[in-house]
Amino acid sequence: MSATTSHTVIGAGPVGTLMALMLANRGHSVRLIERRADPRTTPPERGRSINLAMAARGLLALEHAGLLARIAPAMMPMPGRMLHDEHGALRFLRYGQNEREIIYAVSRERLNRILVEAAAESPGIELRFDTRCVELDAAGASVTLRDERDGRPYQEPFEVLLAADGAGSAVRAALSARGMVQAHEQPLDHDYKELTIPAHTARSEHYAFEPQALHIWPRGGYMLIALPNTDGSFTATLFLPRHGVPGFDHLHNARSVQSLFKTEFADAERAIPNLTQQFAAHPQGQLGTLYCQGWQFQGRVLLLGDAAHAIVPFHGQGLNCGFEDCRLLDQLLSGGAARTSQQRTALFERFEHERRPDTDAIAAMALENYQEMRDAVRSPHFRNRQALAAALEREFPGRFIPRYSMVMFHPEIPYSQARRRGSAQERVLDTLLAENTSVAIGPAARVHIEALLDQSGL
Ligand code: FAD
Repeated sequence: MSATTSHTVIGAGPVGTLMALMLANRGHSVRLIERRADPRTTPPERGRSINLAMAARGLLALEHAGLLARIAPAMMPMPGRMLHDEHGALRFLRYGQNEREIIYAVSRERLNRILVEAAAESPGIELRFDTRCVELDAAGASVTLRDERDGRPYQEPFEVLLAADGAGSAVRAALSARGMVQAHEQPLDHDYKELTIPAHTARSEHYAFEPQALHIWPRGGYMLIALPNTDGSFTATLFLPRHGVPGFDHLHNARSVQSLFKTEFADAERAIPNLTQQFAAHPQGQLGTLYCQGWQFQGRVLLLGDAAHAIVPFHGQGLNCGFEDCRLLDQLLSGGAARTSQQRTALFERFEHERRPDTDAIAAMALENYQEMRDAVRSPHFRNRQALAAALEREFPGRFIPRYSMVMFHPEIPYSQARRRGSAQERVLDTLLAENTSVAIGPAARVHIEALLDQSGL
């Protein structure tokens, strides 16, 4: 876009704020509109998605915007998953092959605050909090905003509007109501509830569990997970069917909650002194996948992040994917050919055309990963498979990379390619496991595996 183009970004969540910063870094002027109060002066809402896992795609986007060093102190390394079985036994499974292949837990509120602070320092960005987008006239290039403090609605014209207003996007709803986008939400029949596992003692940062791990209590049809925070606490999330036994609809009183936790998550139950109070007070969140086509309208409006492609959280990629949107769009815009609305239409169309196969792929992989996290990780078969996959990666670096690693540690591999290569690799693993191939790969096995990889196009 030319330096004279002004941009309105709806949503100062992580994606909207990062995109605003990237645009401002290129000298563009940005108006950043957010319905909530300023996070620099207001405490965060509690009980809903407190921290999240950041991986290479998100980190690369932050680096691209020159922000990684500011975020780094807020990042807690998680080199692997710690599995808790029903009897309290622990098993640590590394995610990657080396110390660079790790993921990080980051406080959502701290991440957002750091981004907003950076945006406030940028002379190109006008920040407007307590301002909700309530309607959009895309054809007439005008947006209706409402001041949340006095309820006053007013209209503003815009030149280019980027919608980063999350899964329930008001911009997408306005476009959809006029048939300008096709959007379809696929709800999951499992909900979630967040709980805080406090630091061991109030005065020190003593963790109830190993801090350098993503903890999982996989129980087949459901699971509890916990991510560490820098203050010694963990944020735990219970994922459970909405209906059934066990299901949220059967956890209607303190006794039923206590009983589920005592039976299934005994070590977590001991670490959460006010479990039943938290359970009653925290909201029950819903999950789902958003399939959306037609992310742009006439080079004037573009959907980004969850507003375009919200996914279930089981691969820890929703935000990573949204940040990757920002980096890829910024790279496309850096070409400079987006001065006229025709040029912008072509560029936004190209963005969606290139990006949607990847967002569809991560949506599918995120759903598939729920089964892996809550169930498959428990079986010795899964661990053998994982050990063999790691051995193949060491033996054939760059040629065989476990799918989890492609998604989490290899931003140079698009999600759609990771999914395709992942399927081909699964078939190779099936063959090798059926042949009882050892992880100590000898010269004869090497030749055989090389032939298999050739046949599979790997
Ligand atoms: P949001 O974070 O939803 O931000 C949207 C912003 O727009 C908000 O500030 C909102 O107040 C504002 N807004 C909304 N409507 C309006 C309006 N009408 N007018 C003005 N402002 C508006 N992702 C990961 O990468 N890793 C994880 O580990 C992970 N874990 C998750 C766990 C859970 C339980 C959930 C639910 C999600 C998780 N995600 C994770 C996904 C991640 O939270 C989202 O992908 C990410 O927050 C999307 O960012 P966004 O900026 O697009 O949208």
